[in-house]
Amino acid sequence: MNVDVVWNKLLSNLKEELSSLSYDTWFSETNLYKLDNGDAKIIVPMPIHKKHLQDQYIDIIKDNLNLITGNEYDVEFLLEEEIKEEESKEEKNDEKKEEIKEDVHSNLNSKYTFENFVVGNSNKLAYASALSIAENPGKTMYNPLFLYGNSGLGKTHLMHAIGNYIVENSDKKVLYITCDQFIDDYKSIMRKGSDGTNLSYLDFFKNKYRNIDVLIINDIHSLENASKTQNEFFNTFNSLHNDSKQIIISSDRSPDDFKKLEDRLRTRFCWGLTANIYPPDFELRKEILIKKLKGEGVIDAIPDEVLNYMASNIGPSVRQLEGAINRLIYYSFVFLDNTKDKKITLDVAIEALPEYVNNGVGDNDKIHRIQRIVSEYFQISVDDIKSKKRSSNISFPRQIAMYLCRNVTDESFPKIGLEFGGKDHSTVMHSVEKIENEIKVNKDLANIIEKLKNDIGTV
Ligand code: ADP
Ligand code: MG
Repeated sequence: MNVDVVWNKLLSNLKEELSSLSYDTWFSETNLYKLDNGDAKIIVPMPIHKKHLQDQYIDIIKDNLNLITGNEYDVEFLLEEEIKEEESKEEKNDEKKEEIKEDVHSNLNSKYTFENFVVGNSNKLAYASALSIAENPGKTMYNPLFLYGNSGLGKTHLMHAIGNYIVENSDKKVLYITCDQFIDDYKSIMRKGSDGTNLSYLDFFKNKYRNIDVLIINDIHSLENASKTQNEFFNTFNSLHNDSKQIIISSDRSPDDFKKLEDRLRTRFCWGLTANIYPPDFELRKEILIKKLKGEGVIDAIPDEVLNYMASNIGPSVRQLEGAINRLIYYSFVFLDNTKDKKITLDVAIEALPEYVNNGVGDNDKIHRIQRIVSEYFQISVDDIKSKKRSSNISFPRQIAMYLCRNVTDESFPKIGLEFGGKDHSTVMHSVEKIENEIKVNKDLANIIEKLKNDIGTV
């Protein structure tokens, strides 16, 4: 119930109950300020009213409030200036709440940092670009940062890392958002436009996206299919860029590969720094594995050959590696209790990870094909070529097959070793070197290798 309604009703009751002198003296200039949470705050004109109303009339006021609203209230009398003081206190509190709320709304995930991002050849440019922007947001030549690469390679991780770094080391306002959220927000303006509230919502939108120091927008490729939103993003981009506010964009493709994006946006994406993240190579995959398994406290249970197996066979995305790690950790809980030496053996790992293996990293089909073709040529069996037999009629073809695997598939030495019955990577390296040197001086061998390559189908 509206406070004025309540108070008018109360006054008209009192008018009947009290003499007109009493009423006029004590109540004619009162007002109800607030009625909430069991508190009734009444405005009175002078300090003497406070005392007299408290001493003489408190019960009658409480009874009437209860009669009118059905609720019990504690009653407090305040002067006009006391109310003003209270109001300004409340405003400050509200502002504080706003600030805290806005912090929460940066949408950053604190688990993604520069410290826990493992750097290797495939991502070092992206990492360095991200770090330099985090240290120096808003510099023209680095604005925007455009990060691109396939899914699961660490773009989102790096973007949050930038945001977290800036929030920690400055008082800049950061907003992380997916492009889909931006599109949704924009569509809401259009919907709300029809019921006349468009303007205030437009203000909300502009405030949200332009009243910030750093805009991090993920998966910008979604904008391709939202042609109407492109214009609004263009305006947002310009407004921020003109004010030297940092913009960070990620995408699954390079700016050149946008087919349905307005040219003026595509060119803007290339104004600053553009960095491509590539799939991790064997070394980086292994390093990521080690770091994450250490973080989980299980690295001691994982022998090197298991790490090599995983780094060779799982990927290409880091997300797949993470899935495999979780699986392995689960498995280690189940298995380690029952083992003597508390280690995950290669056999257990192979059993644990079938769905993660051969997901595009391992060129296993090609390796098997090479083994078959070489075995046929030298008239030995594939089992022989993978065996430990050391007689030269078997070990020589094996060396050739290893050499071809390295040359044709570009697989890592540990991976090739694994596919040859679990040989050490140094054995593979040695074989490859040996054949390389021999080709140079042995024309017949060079011809055989050419023929085999032809059969494999790569020349
Ligand atoms: P994208 O956004 O490129 O699809 P994400 O950033 O979501 O990829 O990465 C997928 C997962 O892999 C995340 O959990 C992320 O933390 C992890 N990740 C990716 N690259 C690395 C890296 N170099 N070091 C550590 N973790 C990584
Ligand atoms: Mg992502």
